[in-house]
Amino acid sequence: MKPLFLLLGSNLGDRVSYLQEAYLQLSAIFGESGQKSSMYETAAWGVEDQPAFLNQALLFHLDLPPLEILAFTQQVEQDLGRERKERWGARVIDIDILLYGNTVLETPTLTIPHPHLHQRRFTLAPLAELAPEFDHPVLGQTIAQLLAVCPDTLPVRLIS
Ligand code: AMP
Repeated sequence: MKPLFLLLGSNLGDRVSYLQEAYLQLSAIFGESGQKSSMYETAAWGVEDQPAFLNQALLFHLDLPPLEILAFTQQVEQDLGRERKERWGARVIDIDILLYGNTVLETPTLTIPHPHLHQRRFTLAPLAELAPEFDHPVLGQTIAQLLAVCPDTLPVRLIS
């Protein structure tokens, strides 16, 4: 079994409910013993004239091929009614695969570790709650170390 870290994001509609529903659906697929970080609120990244995001990191333990994991997370995104309109646009739910054990993978549809993980405070802050000592398999630093030196200046507010 490998640890799988996901990041949920929502900035449309009832954001808390979307995060809760995504966790329930993912637990039904990946197992009921998942862990959740607190929720964090962050100004939208990339396109700043849209509602703020809520983000939450999740941890599951499983052993599935990475592309199957992506197929499942995309299915949950679709089930929750995501409409793909613009890059970095408003969305009811976004599910990113952050880390999967020591997996290092680069395919046209999936990159693990997530390529922006270390650049975004809204990713590192919830992830550091679940696994501060986890080593990034490419950068060779822990999540806590990456958070300490993260240059991202967008404020991230703990809300729960
Ligand atoms: P976005 O619209 O920003 O959520 O990007 C989604 C696309 O990113 C999907 O079509 C995935 O194939 C691709 N992708 C590449 N790496 C990852 C990853 N680590 N987690 C989630 N999606 C990924």
